[in-house]
Amino acid sequence: MTEQHDHTRPHRHHYDEEMLSVEEARDRILSYFDKLPAVETPLINALGQVLAEELVAPFDIPPLANSAMDGYAVIAADTTGATSGAPVELPVVGVIAAGQLPERPLTSGTVIRIMTGAPVPENSDAVVPFEDTDELERQKSGRSASAISINVEALPGNNVRDAGEDVKAGTTVFGEGVILRAGQIGVIASLGRATIRAIRRPVVAIVSTGDELLEPGEEHQEGKIYNSNAYGVAAMVTRYGGVPKIMGIARDTVESLEAALEAALEIADLVVTSAGVSKGDYDVVKDVLSSKGEIALWSVRMRPAKPLAFGVLKRKDGTRVPHLGLPGNPVSAMVAFEQFGRPALRLMMGKVRAEKPSIEAVMDDPIHNYDGRRVYARVHAYRDEAGVYHARLAGNQSSGVLTSMAQANGLAICPDDVAMIGAGEIARVEMLDWPDDIF
Ligand code: AMP
Ligand code: MG
Repeated sequence: MTEQHDHTRPHRHHYDEEMLSVEEARDRILSYFDKLPAVETPLINALGQVLAEELVAPFDIPPLANSAMDGYAVIAADTTGATSGAPVELPVVGVIAAGQLPERPLTSGTVIRIMTGAPVPENSDAVVPFEDTDELERQKSGRSASAISINVEALPGNNVRDAGEDVKAGTTVFGEGVILRAGQIGVIASLGRATIRAIRRPVVAIVSTGDELLEPGEEHQEGKIYNSNAYGVAAMVTRYGGVPKIMGIARDTVESLEAALEAALEIADLVVTSAGVSKGDYDVVKDVLSSKGEIALWSVRMRPAKPLAFGVLKRKDGTRVPHLGLPGNPVSAMVAFEQFGRPALRLMMGKVRAEKPSIEAVMDDPIHNYDGRRVYARVHAYRDEAGVYHARLAGNQSSGVLTSMAQANGLAICPDDVAMIGAGEIARVEMLDWPDDIF
């Protein structure tokens, strides 16, 4: 990368611009990312984060043998031969609610009323649910509840959950590297933990550049457009587990962009800028980026989102922060973030590299590839009555038409070296929503 700027030819690119495949660009970008450190994290906020400690159960779950039903704790042998025609009537000598401990062992020939989750008393080896007794009839007729008629023979173990049935004390419940999904979070709560060590979420500072931009919430002005890129990208950052920080709009001046980047660098694990990477841009954007670190400008063999910048920015203390320079066109910005930002977030979060979930779908419309770039066509994928996935183009495919992104639930791929995928042919569709939102 040359540091020299030839002022006699201000409109010429002075960076070596390479043409890269999506994979080449992605590999280069990802080589700059590592997993972030672990921090103590409130369990409730940890969804999607990666566990950074080994969790060993300090006790049995459940802690005691307990009832799986509302009913009567019995000694199974006392119910031998019981049928609805010839029930066995036994005296009720107590009641145990969930959260109470049994006051005394069960003695032969008696039962104790017991609620779901309540510990089964000593000597009892089965629970007979209300449905298999005359509980309801007694309640309706107002007959004494001091005895109960049992209509079925209970077998030892019936409706009793063993202590440690879920988790045994001393066992490793989850090891390092486990991704915390809803199930894991529930289990960790059952271990009594309110916080865990997890790889922290990456903070992504989003700087938008352009004199034409207004921040949403500001009054509409003739000739200006709202800064949609920051919001669309911020939503993707959240979706992929990061913490977006919208840093506002930098104007097309050195001072403005420098100030915005300085603020961004203080807080960010990744700085994302939008716009200023295509040929027509003010050189100021590129110059500021190169003076603050290193910048590589690439042409990526993809459509949309051909122009892409990537580099590292230096903080005042000399530490470095990766910078992803997204194209300004709103669809390009989002598609590029999907391809390059998402995997970078995964690596920082301590997750393995993984392809986007994808399906094969029959195209209802053709996808054209005019110039040997990989086409990411915005599509709406759906299932037909036979259960076969189809995909139709989601509106106007211009990279400025952001509503197409709102209509799309996937990006259908036409490979670099394929001139067209015709209607009726199969395309691979990388799903933006997967899979419960497909209809
Ligand atoms: P540029 O990369 O600056 O040439 O911008 C390319 C196109 O994207 C232009 O039409 C810009 O107006 C538009 N654009 C740039 N930044 C944003 C943004 N933050 N939100 C929406 N559109 C933008
Ligand atoms: Mg611009």
